Amino acid sequence: MASITLKNLVKKYGDGFPAVNDVSLDIADGEFIILVGPSGCGKSTLLRMIVGLEDITSGDLLINGERVNDKAPRDRNLAMVFQNYALYPHLTVFENIAFPLRLAKGKYTDEQVRKLVNDAAATLELTEHLDRKPANLSGGQRQRVAMGRAIVRQADAFLFDEPLSNLDAKLRGQMRSEISQMQRRLGTTSVYVTHDQTEAMTLGDRVAVLKKGILQQVASPRELYEQP
Ligand code: ADP
Ligand code: ADP
Repeated sequence: MASITLKNLVKKYGDGFPAVNDVSLDIADGEFIILVGPSGCGKSTLLRMIVGLEDITSGDLLINGERVNDKAPRDRNLAMVFQNYALYPHLTVFENIAFPLRLAKGKYTDEQVRKLVNDAAATLELTEHLDRKPANLSGGQRQRVAMGRAIVRQADAFLFDEPLSNLDAKLRGQMRSEISQMQRRLGTTSVYVTHDQTEAMTLGDRVAVLKKGILQQVASPRELYEQP
């Protein structure tokens, strides 16, 4: 698990107005932060900077107090969960979940891979689907496989980019409570981008509001959504 500290983070693409503009935020170990704001306000850019897929123009990013600006994504031990599940269609559920462990060549024995994948599958109730291919799963099951990939790496934090936005209302509700249970069980630090107020209310410890790249306010979901 990890704390994540953003110190005056700036991202400029070319000469334009900064996509992320002087954002500072302390995310505590085990905290679930919701990131909201209109389309184009810099949410994805901020997530991508944290996970290391986007260079930081200026400012500092600290994980557990250590500056990681120049660390490659694989050395940050953070897991990103996307809305388009990015599963490999030719691989089984087991191999899709195992994929990040196979990438870390030589780090895990076959026995360890089996145990980690089986544990993640049990947490997400995917055990009976491990031999299936993604094409034979429902949208919600695919989403769980994508989360299994994040869990299996024992990442220090999860970064979610609107993970439920492709699902219908019923599945969204199910997945919401699954993510909430997973959070309680694993106590993982999470940064979660969403447009959905219900997700923010049920999942978030705090909500950070971004507008034109600038952090407008950080408040509890209650303070933000239950104003008189
Ligand atoms: P959000 O996720 O909140 O919709 P983004 O982080 O995707 O916002 O985008 C923030 C701003 O940065 C937008 O103005 C967008 O057009 C711009 N932007 C995002 N990615 C790139 C890129 N690769 N090159 C140039 N501009 C970009
Ligand atoms: P649902 O079963 O909830 O209706 P779909 O199967 O239609 O969801 O998928 C929703 C979106 O996710 C589509 O845009 C689809 O292209 C994408 N998608 C579905 N399965 C995969 C996959 N295995 N890998 C990547 N993207 C996928």
